Amino acid sequence: ALREKNDVKKIDPVRWSDIGGLDDVKQILDESVVWTYKHADAFRRLGIQPSKGVLLFGPPGTGKTLLAKAVATETFANFLPVSIPDLIKGEVGESEKAIANAFRVAARSSPCVIFLDELETVFGLRDESGTLGKKMISQLFLELDALNARQLPVIILAATNNPEMIDRTILRPGRLDRIVYVRPPLYEERLHILQLLSVRTRFSNEIDFDDIARKTENYTGADLKALTQRAGLLALKRCKEGASAEVSILVSRI
Ligand code: ATP
Repeated sequence: ALREKNDVKKIDPVRWSDIGGLDDVKQILDESVVWTYKHADAFRRLGIQPSKGVLLFGPPGTGKTLLAKAVATETFANFLPVSIPDLIKGEVGESEKAIANAFRVAARSSPCVIFLDELETVFGLRDESGTLGKKMISQLFLELDALNARQLPVIILAATNNPEMIDRTILRPGRLDRIVYVRPPLYEERLHILQLLSVRTRFSNEIDFDDIARKTENYTGADLKALTQRAGLLALKRCKEGASAEVSILVSRI
């Protein structure tokens, strides 16, 4: 059979311990989502509705995708990433169909985490007639409500850098019932992320991670990753010139 474009992705497992910092966010997701799915029977017996979905908001590169993958790993679920801008099509009716299709794949692949990235784009759509955005939003709500009614093991996680663009009606029970801020890392958290990144890279013993963590205020996890990769490339270049193959880091943007 033809693979559909929106299909579940085989992901490298992401454990909670692979994510630096964000202890409070991890705990919220663990208790409000992972837990309710791991102990679904007990929740049913007690008549407690598990959380259907969580909206993660925060600047780019703070680990929202990583958190969604960790939820999938921890619940033994498939992972279906859906970039909302990719669903916006030129032809009439095709964008709604693309949304319906994504949810069909999620239902068929359950247990599944469907990760709706850049959710705000659907609320900020300004097409000529002004109807495309409205149609996509109502299709999205239709799918969320239908999924909720079917009680399938599908977890909805959504992410945005722009929460003020998002219509509050998506935050109804049964749709997305929680909204969580994923902030840029603080000093201790940056240190933790650097330590996690250093597991895969052979850093020079002279690297002072405390110092780097202190000097990288406002860096996100993605920025720290880019920093270590750039340092790695520099080391490779120097290695070709005959120096040792160790990576050292120079933080230039302070
Ligand atoms: P965007 O809003 O741009 O989609 P995002 O918040 O989803 O960004 P991720 O894609 O999860 O960010 O992060 C990018 C990369 O940065 C990750 O693959 C990971 O390598 C690294 N990273 C970000 N945050 C963390 C973190 N807290 N711990 C460890 N690595 C991190």
